Amino acid sequence: MSTDQRAWTFADGTRIPIGTMYCIGRNYAAHAREMGASVPEDPIVFLKPPSAYRPNGSTVELPAWSSDVHHEVELVVVIGNLAEHIAPKDAWSVVAGVGVGLDLTARDVQTAAKKAGHPWAISKAWNGSAPVSKIIPVSTAGHGPWDLTCDVNGTVRQHDTTAHMERSVASMISYLSSVFTLERGDCIFTGTPEGVGPLRPGDVVHASLSSLVHLTVSIT
Ligand code: MG
Repeated sequence: MSTDQRAWTFADGTRIPIGTMYCIGRNYAAHAREMGASVPEDPIVFLKPPSAYRPNGSTVELPAWSSDVHHEVELVVVIGNLAEHIAPKDAWSVVAGVGVGLDLTARDVQTAAKKAGHPWAISKAWNGSAPVSKIIPVSTAGHGPWDLTCDVNGTVRQHDTTAHMERSVASMISYLSSVFTLERGDCIFTGTPEGVGPLRPGDVVHASLSSLVHLTVSIT
């Protein structure tokens, strides 16, 4: 998709060009367990480029070099104001809105990279690996917690509450802003609850953030 189509869209028509996508790993204890891992002391952070983004209603083509792409439903937080060294108590003041996204992960490639001690970039940041819904402004959405749900072809695969995140949105913004300059249009994928699993061509994935916003993606 062209660069001018890559924008966060709000219900009132506001558009913000998409910047860096920061992603947090293992932020729900039950998902860390299902991956045979624990919740790390310091956050696990990885990035996706803006070109990974796809809007609601997109078709995502599975990469030919993976045979095990997993859905990971996540709360996505969009940054509205530049942020450096933000205290947790001030963190929500830099948030423009929230949505629901899928951190689509080539699990076989990620597992091989982990074993080899290599970066995760290819498994996580490929073209189309970041479908995200429309964004709901904080003034409407509030600060949560929200329910996260992901169903595939009508069968619920993931369902949890963001209250079960190990690190809060405020603490993630505070941490990230101590390392990076967060800019308007950047976002944070805040980690996935348990229940991740494989996607096949022909699947239709439906994700929701409470009753606030929905995301539908077709897999091919
Ligand atoms: Mg994830």
